Amino acid sequence: MEVKTSLTLKGGFSLTSWFREAASSGHALEWKVIRRLYQDQSPYQRIEVLELETFGIALILDGIMQTTSGDEFIYHEMLAHVPLLAHPRPQRVLIIGGGDGGLAREVLRHPEVEELTLVEIDRMVVEVAMKYLPEHTRALSDSRLVIRYADGSRFLKDTSNHRRFDVILVDSTDPEGTGPGRWLYTQAFHDDVLLSLRGEGIFAQQTGTPFFNPEVMTQVAQSLIQRFAWAGVYWAAVPSYPGGFFTFSVGSMGPQVSEPRRDLAEATKWYSSDVHRQAFVLPPYFKRRLPLSINRGVARERV
Ligand code: SAM
Repeated sequence: MEVKTSLTLKGGFSLTSWFREAASSGHALEWKVIRRLYQDQSPYQRIEVLELETFGIALILDGIMQTTSGDEFIYHEMLAHVPLLAHPRPQRVLIIGGGDGGLAREVLRHPEVEELTLVEIDRMVVEVAMKYLPEHTRALSDSRLVIRYADGSRFLKDTSNHRRFDVILVDSTDPEGTGPGRWLYTQAFHDDVLLSLRGEGIFAQQTGTPFFNPEVMTQVAQSLIQRFAWAGVYWAAVPSYPGGFFTFSVGSMGPQVSEPRRDLAEATKWYSSDVHRQAFVLPPYFKRRLPLSINRGVARERV
């Protein structure tokens, strides 16, 4: 959370700055900083943009690493293509959060998508991303995209959104702490998600790194298994997130999300249909924190 400067006097003088994020009380990540490009306080969070020596341009919210130009493709390809390629025909998609634009870019690579609604609570995040993260935001001018500046949990309470979406993706900040992300990890929110999906709707949300916050993955999986015909957890290795092993939780009204129905015509850097299937193979270390029927297609297990 702090940018720490250290003087190295080994035969010379260099002012080295490091950005440090505490993953837990006993573990932290540090990135060497070339320069700070931006910092300001929005009505919702502290926004920083740093240029890092190893990971390129990084967006940081309330001292937590959100996305870097160096490895963002992993997270955004896995959160977009796994649900979308498991759905028979994802015409209407909703993203909640995702103000850096990376997830929208990946969703809009699907020709089946006719309408993408992005509900981001903090307009400043989008404006900062437009200025400093051009690779993330290059699809935000797509005519299929509508951006709404609102709280995603309130947006879904609007009955005009009921039975409207084929796929709903939550790309929010983490539920810990006092940020607005915490409203997107409640059972009441999942009830509203279910009301807002149509047909063989699929829901997916980031559920963090189980090495440090396993309860997020466990609680979301338990909530989804009680509401959806099929529920699963899959993972990807994201170097800039604590522990490297990052999870996504999915609920489906029909399709078994672990099985892709088609390929993506365009080339990707991380996602493939083999990676899709393998991502649902969970080590026992994590499976024991999840309901038995996760990734198995047993409908509505009572946990
Ligand atoms: N990839 C990152 C991760 O996994 O932590 C998420 C990055 S994205 C920038 C997170 C976005 O979620 C932020 O821009 C934040 O403003 C937005 N957000 C958090 N809570 C929200 C809510 N209740 N409604 C809409 N957007 C929200």
